Amino acid sequence: MELKNKNIVVVGFGKTGQAVCDFLLEKEVASLTVSDKKPETQLEGVADYRKKGVNFDTGRHRPELFLSADLIVVSPGVPPLPEILEVRKGGIKVISEIELAYQFLQGRIIGVTGSNGKSTTVTLVHDILKNSGLKVHLTGNIGKPLISFVKKSRPNHFIITELSSFQLEFTEKFRAEMAVILNISENHLDWHQTYASYISAKKKLFQQQLATDIAVLNRDDPILWSWRKEKKIELYAFSRKHSVPRGCYLKDSTIWLKLEEELPVIKTKEVKLRGGHNLENVMAAVVVSSLAGADLPVIKQTVKNFRGLEHRLEEVRTINRVLFVNDSKATTVAATIRAVQSFNRPIVLILGGRDKGGDFSPLRRALKNKVKKVLLIGEAKEKIKPVIGGICPVEEAGSFRELVEKGYQAASPGDVVLLAPACTSWDMFRNFEERGRLFKKEVNNLARKLVKRGKS
Ligand code: ADP
Repeated sequence: MELKNKNIVVVGFGKTGQAVCDFLLEKEVASLTVSDKKPETQLEGVADYRKKGVNFDTGRHRPELFLSADLIVVSPGVPPLPEILEVRKGGIKVISEIELAYQFLQGRIIGVTGSNGKSTTVTLVHDILKNSGLKVHLTGNIGKPLISFVKKSRPNHFIITELSSFQLEFTEKFRAEMAVILNISENHLDWHQTYASYISAKKKLFQQQLATDIAVLNRDDPILWSWRKEKKIELYAFSRKHSVPRGCYLKDSTIWLKLEEELPVIKTKEVKLRGGHNLENVMAAVVVSSLAGADLPVIKQTVKNFRGLEHRLEEVRTINRVLFVNDSKATTVAATIRAVQSFNRPIVLILGGRDKGGDFSPLRRALKNKVKKVLLIGEAKEKIKPVIGGICPVEEAGSFRELVEKGYQAASPGDVVLLAPACTSWDMFRNFEERGRLFKKEVNNLARKLVKRGKS
């Protein structure tokens, strides 16, 4: 891709936008302009980048700016702005940061997508390959943007990257030598408008692969599994329910790997992550790491040591035998359902935040007989309340302190108080991490208070 003497607009000036600017500043472009909806006062680093020669057009997105561009590079958090879609239709090239990075990267890309489980899976794959002595880079949401690895990457390096539908939407040639597709469920309808367009964005990862590339698909996900018939590809699968011709599956409470021969990998009780969904993530990671060259003993030991990530079914602490669990990253209905299914004891469930435009009704069936009380917070309260009505008692709270205290009061020894809100945090927080941290802080405050009162 020729960048020299081009007029380039970078949309969004967060972590990714800055990394894109860093890259482009070394490419002798004619002009480099950042467009961000936020006013300059709310953006970090503007003065520094201006000194380096970047122009800023902030507080709105101006169609004239987009029209003057030879190339527009969009950050993952930017919605499909009508102004951008319009100029794209008119023939101006619009790409995401991963597409730009791809054109310059060296190395072997392992791309992981899906509605849930990406961060968990890429981290595990990274750990396994690293423990195998291979040179690996972990990129995407969980690490640094892909573009930051252009200089460091070498042809024999593995680049493990989690890919969101937003990033895939604006790709043209981006291709992963190995692609893992974990699952598909309704997500980001506020961004994609329809479920079909969300699925087709995810599908680009698979569609852009060559016949000699490797695709690892979830055999138990009907949508994903139906794709296998659409093209010639080196197909591998993972499944909790079926044996598979090539890949990983469960049999006799053990994860098995079948490539040339069929070998036991690890007993499920040795996996420290909770929930069947995490067994799916582990199986996907086992298949792809093994295909990348990791040996079984290293895979087994790494899986055994892997404790999962912060804010994903993270055990905070137990107070008088009530377990508090932080799954602040459960921002979708599907993730909340998986979280609920991960416990065999009564649950007090915390739901709410900012609605992503999805359907909450699948919660009814999933919560029935498992959740003894729902506590609601945030903007989506009113939308969720009628859905849960009649399933279990519902109570509202105005703060995380109140949520934690009410959760503790509603729980009996042996129960779980689970934050798995099925919504984003953006109505009250900057991100899910901030929400999870406040939840943990309030749980610890409660424990201290109870000790003071001699009740713990
Ligand atoms: P992502 O990067 O895709 O958002 P994470 O690994 O950060 O995925 O997990 C996001 C949320 O989804 C967490 O609440 C986690 O417990 C849940 N989750 C993880 N893996 C799966 C899966 N395979 N299916 C459904 N939910 C999952």
